Amino acid sequence: VEALVIAGHFGFAAAVKSREREAPLWGLMLACVWLDIVFVPLLAAHVETMVQVPGTKEGAYGGAVIYADYTHSLVGAIALSLVLGLAFGLAYRRRIGIAIGLVAFSHWVLDLPLHRADMPLLPGNAGDHARLGFGLWRWPAVSMALEAALVLLGAWLYGRAALQVAGTDAASQKRARLCAVGIAVSGAIVLGLNAAGM
Ligand SMILES: [Zn+2]
Repeated sequence: VEALVIAGHFGFAAAVKSREREAPLWGLMLACVWLDIVFVPLLAAHVETMVQVPGTKEGAYGGAVIYADYTHSLVGAIALSLVLGLAFGLAYRRRIGIAIGLVAFSHWVLDLPLHRADMPLLPGNAGDHARLGFGLWRWPAVSMALEAALVLLGAWLYGRAALQVAGTDAASQKRARLCAVGIAVSGAIVLGLNAAGM
């Protein structure tokens, strides 16, 4: 199984939920990995590809150069984010559509420091411009620590906002804490699976 690095993205979605309370959490969670969701069928169809970096274990965390030349090109990411944002804007409200679109695009921004200089500007790497990505994945311990920090921050912000909404109702407070812990634990599981190279 190819490791999709998603824990940090989920952390970000949880953080946004703490600010945009009307946006459905499932929609934010979908948005934060939207580019990777579209990536999966394109990978299966060999339109986008992954190449294991020599010297890294097969499927190791961050151990691949990812030629996601459509979904993770700057222009492609903007287009896909617009599509998802528009869909949510029509189904819900304009403001929610904007939040969803921005979260979808945040995926590209958060991937930028991690990816190994494999993200093109234009779909299909048209024009053969320099590829982007600062390659933090060369230091898995550092990138995992950053992801873990983002998960914890997201869970904490989410929990804090949920507690505010819960007010003085004990049952709601308990649910808010459980949700925050659930976010942190799911993030830890995803990171753990990545560390194990699954
Ligand atoms: Zn990605």
